[in-house]
Parts: sequence; structure tokens; C-alpha cells
Amino acid sequence: MEEAANHNAARATDLTKIYGQGETRVVALDKVSVAFGRGEFTAIMGPSGSGKSTLMHCMAGLDTITSGSSRIGATELTGMKDDQLTRLRRDKVGFVFQAFHLLPTLTAAENITLPLDIAGRRPDREWLDQVIAAVGLADRLAHRPGQLSGGQQQRVAVARALASRPEIIFADEPTGNLDSRSGAEVLGLLRDSVREFGQSVVMVTHDPVAASSAGRVVFLADGRVVDELRAPTADQILDRVKAFDAAGRVS
Ligand code: ADP
Repeated sequence: MEEAANHNAARATDLTKIYGQGETRVVALDKVSVAFGRGEFTAIMGPSGSGKSTLMHCMAGLDTITSGSSRIGATELTGMKDDQLTRLRRDKVGFVFQAFHLLPTLTAAENITLPLDIAGRRPDREWLDQVIAAVGLADRLAHRPGQLSGGQQQRVAVARALASRPEIIFADEPTGNLDSRSGAEVLGLLRDSVREFGQSVVMVTHDPVAASSAGRVVFLADGRVVDELRAPTADQILDRVKAFDAAGRVS
């Protein structure tokens, strides 16, 4: 355990991802090296097509890597077979998606514990109660997703991601389908999970205000990491995004 404490939550080294071949060949990630520390909340930003989703998918074990290395904690993903990746995702990764991805026939409580149930793991009741209290859903546990607002559904999804105490949570545009108030609530939850529970969170977003919830913002362009900011304000992020856009138009 002590040794594990020295590892980052996730780390990519010279991570390259190429889709297709010949005329359809696309270098989606070009030797990306980036580390996400434990208990850190990082936002990933960049223009459409810059490789944000690909980076997240490769680092979360949802997609294979062409070359380089990617780790979750001490576990190397490169070379893993599909069933190994499935187990790794189940045991070490939490996901929050833009479209919530809850099962409509299950209650909120059942959705929250579903990944644990599938893994045959007994939920830690005390921890679950803590998580449910943190997301403010104690009086909505018997509701099905269709009976909940978008913001409440996303809070269920955050609770589901936290339930297994994963090594890292990857959130893909988690506020993209929410009004600004619900979005702010979800961002607050992610931030609290980092601050209070020491959870590690990586969030892809195109929204500078959402990104300013994170302690660190990593910028991608053309499949490369081109910059990063620590503890930035939304205005600082917006300035940086505008500068990249301007540079892109000139070149
Ligand atoms: P972003 O999330 O920043 O919008 P993506 O990671 O989705 O960027 O895409 C990066 C590049 O890889 C783009 O040029 C995109 O067209 C390409 N790409 C992504 N997924 C695939 C795929 N499954 N097949 C072929 N090309 C892909």
C-alpha cells in the first residue's frame, strides 16, 4: 500500500493513438505525456477534434493505445486484453457522462450500487450513506431516473462513480446537459469529492466556468498537450482559449 501511495492516480507517457490507416489515418494523440495526481481535480480543454475524448478513453481503458504507456495507479493498461480492461474499469475507474447513462428501470439507489453489484462486491454501507448524503439524494433513493430532474440524475451518476471509491473518476462534459444552476451543483459535488474524500477527478469540458472549478486545467491542441494553468479563474481560462483560437486562425 505504501508503494501505491507514490503513484499518480493516472499517468500517460508518450501516449499515441492513431485511428485508421492510409488516407483515413488520423493521429488523434501525438506522444502525450500527462500525469493526474491523487486527490487532484483536473479539467481538460481544447478545441473540437483536439483529442480530449480520445485521451480520456485511452486513459480510462475504454479504447486501446497505439503506442506509449498509460497507467491507472500502478497498473499498466498498454497490452491489456479486453477482459482485463473491463475488469480494470470496473475496479478502478468511475465514470460520469454528459447523458447520465442511468438505467431507467432501476431506482436511484439501485443505479448507485449497480457497478458494485455487477462486480459482486458488497457495498460499504457507511460509505454509501456518506456519498448519498453528500449528493443530497437521501429522499430520492426510491425514484427512477424518469422521475428525477437532469441535475438530480447527474447527482445519482456522481454517487454511482464515487460508490466504489475508484482510483480515478473520468467525467465527460458532465454539465453539458444541465442548466447552469444544476451544472454548478454537480461541479460543486465533484470538487467536494476531491477536497473531502481525496477523490481524483479528471473532467473534459469546453466550458471555462466549469473548468475553473478544477485546480488545474490542461489544454490540448492537435493531439498534443500545449499548456496548463493552476487554480485559474474562468476569465484566465477564457483568455487562454481565445489566444489559442486566434493562433489557430492565423496558422
Ligand atoms: P475532441 O474530444 O477534442 O473533440 P476527439 O478525441 O474526439 O477530439 O478526436 C480527435 C481526432 O481523432 C479527431 O480528428 C477525430 O476526428 C479523430 N477520431 C476520434 N475518434 C475516431 C474514430 N473512432 N475513428 C476515426 N477517427 C477518430
